[in-house]
Amino acid sequence: MVSILRTCYVCKSENIVLNGKNKSGNQRYRCKACGVTRVLDYVHQSRHVDMEAIARTYQERSGFR
Ligand SMILES: [Zn+2]
Repeated sequence: MVSILRTCYVCKSENIVLNGKNKSGNQRYRCKACGVTRVLDYVHQSRHVDMEAIARTYQERSGFR
């Protein structure tokens, strides 16, 4: 579940290149097929994983008591 989908939002092409980071530190990419520049969406995914980990830790703590 660590794999990052690196496909273009517009044309679904996998022919994209990393294009630095924006002010928020999010990884950007540029699609060679259609030329669009967008931010990779893995920040949202990792946040979701963090929420699961926090919930799991909380459950373990409450069960430990
Ligand atoms: Zn594209």
